Amino acid sequence: MSLLVTIFDVRISNMVMNVSQHFLLSAAARMISLKAIFSLSDADAWTVFQRLRWPETDGAAVCSHCGHDRCYDVTRGATPRFRCSACRKDFSPTSGTLFAYHKLSIRDYLAAIALFVNAVKGVSALQMGRDLDVSYKAAWVLCHKLREAMASEMKGAVIGGEGKTVEVDGMYTGGHIRPANLKEDRVDRRLAKHQTGKRQVVVAIRERDGRTVTAVFKSEDASTDFIKARVARGTTVHTDEAASWESLRAKFRVRTINHSQAYSHDDACTNQAESYFSRLRRAERGQHHQISGNYLGRYAAEMGWREDNRRQPNGTLFTRIVGLAVRCRVSVDFTGRWQRQAA
Ligand SMILES: [Zn+2]
Repeated sequence: MSLLVTIFDVRISNMVMNVSQHFLLSAAARMISLKAIFSLSDADAWTVFQRLRWPETDGAAVCSHCGHDRCYDVTRGATPRFRCSACRKDFSPTSGTLFAYHKLSIRDYLAAIALFVNAVKGVSALQMGRDLDVSYKAAWVLCHKLREAMASEMKGAVIGGEGKTVEVDGMYTGGHIRPANLKEDRVDRRLAKHQTGKRQVVVAIRERDGRTVTAVFKSEDASTDFIKARVARGTTVHTDEAASWESLRAKFRVRTINHSQAYSHDDACTNQAESYFSRLRRAERGQHHQISGNYLGRYAAEMGWREDNRRQPNGTLFTRIVGLAVRCRVSVDFTGRWQRQAA
């Protein structure tokens, strides 16, 4: 158990924090490492997982069917199995979570989550596959399950409120038309008839010193009902001068910043929304190279989560992602996805 203690029970308060140092350079930001995870035995890795899955009983099994907490250990193979004394059903520590029907060892999952948490600009499935020595498909599905877990935290959340400030902005992406090689073959890419229809906008709603809500639309105009639904009445909303945001005035006090004149004027700005977009852009260009329009919403939510939690120690983030993943239930979108596609 001493190893688990070194991984999870680091007392940040006992650490001497150098105030002049950037947070991410401090020891407090490094609570978890691949080195520590890969030195866990199988049994220790399961113990870690169980303690994260059932924190209220410090890792003792709680029935995934009925919630009863008196269960017998009926393990035969490498994976722990329990039998509920109330409903008599069997279950494993991953039953009913995002990790149900898992193919990899539990240690590999813990390692995958550590890699995912440590990648501040996201991590591509190809890189994850290489690092863990698993197939591209397995890595792709796993990364998407972790994104699903992250996104579940802000699902349906309403931000802002009386006295709060929210910044709203959009970032158009996708639908790139490659110019033809020969000049005479080239078309005016600005014209509607030459566009692919794949262009979308990621809209970010970011509360100052708070959380970020993201969603994908065909245009900024199409996003205003969503914004009204997800921002509480009484909030002051800051936007740029795009005409799309005019209708927000019906519900909120709106402050507009004209970016052709200044990025910030008289406290009006959308700089925090821009910081979010800059992280999303760097993830797309630097890690994923191209993000499919179908999954854009998931990457957008992932980057929102990362931006909101950028100052949290990685051990805290690790614990939270596992916590979200075990509460997420079985992944609807990704369980058996490749099998379905092949069929
Ligand atoms: Zn039960």
